[in-house]
Amino acid sequence: MSRVLVTGGAGFIGSHFVRRLLAADAVDQVTVLDALTYAGSLENLGEAMLSPKLTFVPGNILDARLVGVLAREHTAIVHFAAESHVDRSFYEAGNFLSTNVLGTHTLLAAARDAGVLRFVHVSTDEVYGPLESGQAAEDFPLRPSVPYAASKAASDLVALSFFQTFDVPVCVTRSSNNYGPRQHPEKIIPLFITRLLKGHDVTLHGQGQHMRNWLHVEDNCQGIDLVLRSGVPGQVYNIGGGTDLAGAELTARLLAMFDVGWDRVRYLPDRASNDIRYAMDWSKIAALGYRPAHDLDQGLAQTADWYRRNPDRWAPLLRKETQHA
Ligand code: NAD
Repeated sequence: MSRVLVTGGAGFIGSHFVRRLLAADAVDQVTVLDALTYAGSLENLGEAMLSPKLTFVPGNILDARLVGVLAREHTAIVHFAAESHVDRSFYEAGNFLSTNVLGTHTLLAAARDAGVLRFVHVSTDEVYGPLESGQAAEDFPLRPSVPYAASKAASDLVALSFFQTFDVPVCVTRSSNNYGPRQHPEKIIPLFITRLLKGHDVTLHGQGQHMRNWLHVEDNCQGIDLVLRSGVPGQVYNIGGGTDLAGAELTARLLAMFDVGWDRVRYLPDRASNDIRYAMDWSKIAALGYRPAHDLDQGLAQTADWYRRNPDRWAPLLRKETQHA
């Protein structure tokens, strides 16, 4: 009987993953633990909340007592909960260290004490830092250059140390940049889509030269699910295989989708730190059977369509963002 605790399941990727788990016959019970920060919302779970298999527990991964109780009730933990926005990490790095490092430690200690059978720690390609050329395999040195990535790298190392020291059956996944429906509009693709929908300009940092690999969120979830079911404890799995694009190329695709030109783009000075390129070798997870299935143009069109049909979901968040700034 499989009972899975999903932290951060009311966020962007976590909510897609919960839907996938609920559809799987092998899963009997899914519990979402989420603090519902500005980034999380029960609306992300939507109709999934009606499933008899799903329980939602509001709470913080730093709450050792709560996490201890939940760990004892589950056979597996898939850990998404994190502060996830790079720009915010420039001015509130302490929150990132607290949630991403100490929160991960709290969960790992609970998993160890409860004898959880599987712990998947969800991480990012940003831990490898910028690569001028080539690709990072899983044993590539970690050289994070922004506080978000540093906090994720630290949490990856703590997770792997709990495998080495306490035999907690930890796997780490590191994926490239995700996109898809229900992403918070502070992230670049939904930010551009929502601005274009409102008839506003979009802003590009520097000359838009930074390369990112764009992966549909359902492809990442496919990879995480594979690792949950057949990953080898103690191993790291890169999840890539999206489309490599510079910021300017991504902008061009979005402008074309909305049938508008470069006069809608304003250029901003580059961020304090903006890694020039991330690139991963994902042959290890391909050997488990992972095959990304989404074409970028179709995925962007599907994503734009979701934002077009659901202004009630993102317009209030944009207002909050303006107040926050
Ligand atoms: P998100 O910001 O959309 O969601 C994070 C969720 O975690 C939210 O629901 C939030 O309420 C919850 N949360 C935050 N702090 C918490 C706490 N202390 N206790 C309990 N819940 C808390 O993030 P996302 O984009 O869905 O990313 C999920 C995971 O995937 C993160 O670990 C992130 O580092 C990683 N990741 C994201 C991407 C990406 O492109 N979005 C790429 C690679 C890896």
